[in-house]
Amino acid sequence: MERRIVDAVPAQLFIGGRWQESSAHTRLAVEDPATARTLTAVADAGPTEARAALDAAVAAQDGFAAMPARERGEILRRCFSLIRERADDFACLITLEMGKPLREASAEVAYAAEFFRWFAEEAVRVSGRWASDPAGHGRLLTMRHPVGPCLLITPWNFPLAMGTRKIGPAVAAGCAMVVKPAAQTPLSMLALAALMAEAGLPPGVLNVVTTSTPGPTLSGLFADERLRKLSFTGSTEIGKTLMAQASTNLLRLSMELGGNAPFLVFDDCDLDLAVDQAVVAKMRNMGQSCVAANRFHVQRSVAEEFGRRLADRMHALRVGPGTDPTVDVGPLIDDTQRAKVRQLVAGALARGATVADGGTTTGDGPGYFFPPTVLTGLDTKAVMYRTEIFGPVAPIYPFDTEADALGAANGTPYGLVAYVFTGDLARALRVVESLQVGMVGLNKGMVSNAAAPFGGVKWSGLGREGGPEGIEEYLTTKYVGIEA
Ligand code: NAP
Repeated sequence: MERRIVDAVPAQLFIGGRWQESSAHTRLAVEDPATARTLTAVADAGPTEARAALDAAVAAQDGFAAMPARERGEILRRCFSLIRERADDFACLITLEMGKPLREASAEVAYAAEFFRWFAEEAVRVSGRWASDPAGHGRLLTMRHPVGPCLLITPWNFPLAMGTRKIGPAVAAGCAMVVKPAAQTPLSMLALAALMAEAGLPPGVLNVVTTSTPGPTLSGLFADERLRKLSFTGSTEIGKTLMAQASTNLLRLSMELGGNAPFLVFDDCDLDLAVDQAVVAKMRNMGQSCVAANRFHVQRSVAEEFGRRLADRMHALRVGPGTDPTVDVGPLIDDTQRAKVRQLVAGALARGATVADGGTTTGDGPGYFFPPTVLTGLDTKAVMYRTEIFGPVAPIYPFDTEADALGAANGTPYGLVAYVFTGDLARALRVVESLQVGMVGLNKGMVSNAAAPFGGVKWSGLGREGGPEGIEEYLTTKYVGIEA
């Protein structure tokens, strides 16, 4: 079955509604991180194909913008239904190319599809404004237009959802696009492109370029005045580089970047709930999520108890290939990521941390597995404290006062999400208001929701994806002064 699902994916570039090879006829291997074996290979584009993809998007742009919003919405709605019909195949594909357990992959498929349903509904709600000049000298009309051809770049950790979160609002707003999925996980996006064509998306609106050389392949697009927007999800480091490149043409920007999420546990909280939700906030995607809890700040009186219970829960998780339905924790994406996590743990241990559970991996056998790990007695000078771990490691740092907790939470250049566990409403409001983040989970370890604005502040990025705010990123405003 797995072979059938992989073989059904068109392993080529999708440009102007046609599947094609790269002009150099090179291929990009896609690996299964649970076995370290090659699953398949897809076309490896260069600058010529990237340019052709933008040409196709530019050619499609005006016609697509003129399509009635209801029709664009109906296309998204059909895509939503088709994804749901093929949910099991998409989940299997995500698990094979990215590693997450099938249960989580199915949850990603459902989440990904919701962006299409949400933006199918938003497409027809785009409207302008009509007002009288306050001084009585005429009328003020504002209208909304699609921003124009977009470049959408996505990461490997949610191969389908990070795409639909951008493609949904772009289609709803009437923007044509070039999509560049992560080199490690191109299959879900290629399967999605085929599905969207089947659902009636006009040729050229969505173009997919897979490449092993993103910098040289895409740099020409940044220099091309026809491109009007970049929406990027990925690391802060690459995001900053692309923001500088985007300045050449003053592109509209949406940047969904890295995080360093604090998980605050106050001693007045429901500790059972906090432990349950800590597992969710830490372990989704094996910790490889921008919203993964990166630092557990726990009030000193409950820190030991919290650490013990969390270690018990983490210990009970079953590690193995995501395709095994009994598995809770799959492999990390590659050996580089596993080596980075190992090094962070070693660095913390060298500074006096203690392993409450997990922490070592022999590295024998295929696949990039790392055991769920709880660390206590950490030094905040350890590199782990200020680094996005992106792995199944939960470091616990005790705090004494609310002010200490807030100081620790905000003492980072990142500001994506924070989690707060408390039973005191007044404290909850005080803390939530003071956190320098784009999102807060209050007594809740997961915030992702297609109907809500996802995004960060500071080094975690610009703009929002999802919710009514999501479509704004793909629209410009024109004001018309009317002498009447
Ligand atoms: P990454 O290394 O920054 O890569 C992200 C994407 O950018 C990939 O498609 C990558 O292509 C591409 N890329 C790399 N260099 C490029 C260049 N010079 N020009 C154009 N494109 C380039 O990030 P990642 O490792 O895939 O993803 C993990 C990061 O994403 C984490 O920091 C995580 O926090 C962040 N993230 C943020 C959110 C959010 O919503 N805030 C959501 C998910 C993930 P290749 O695959 O070929 O390298």
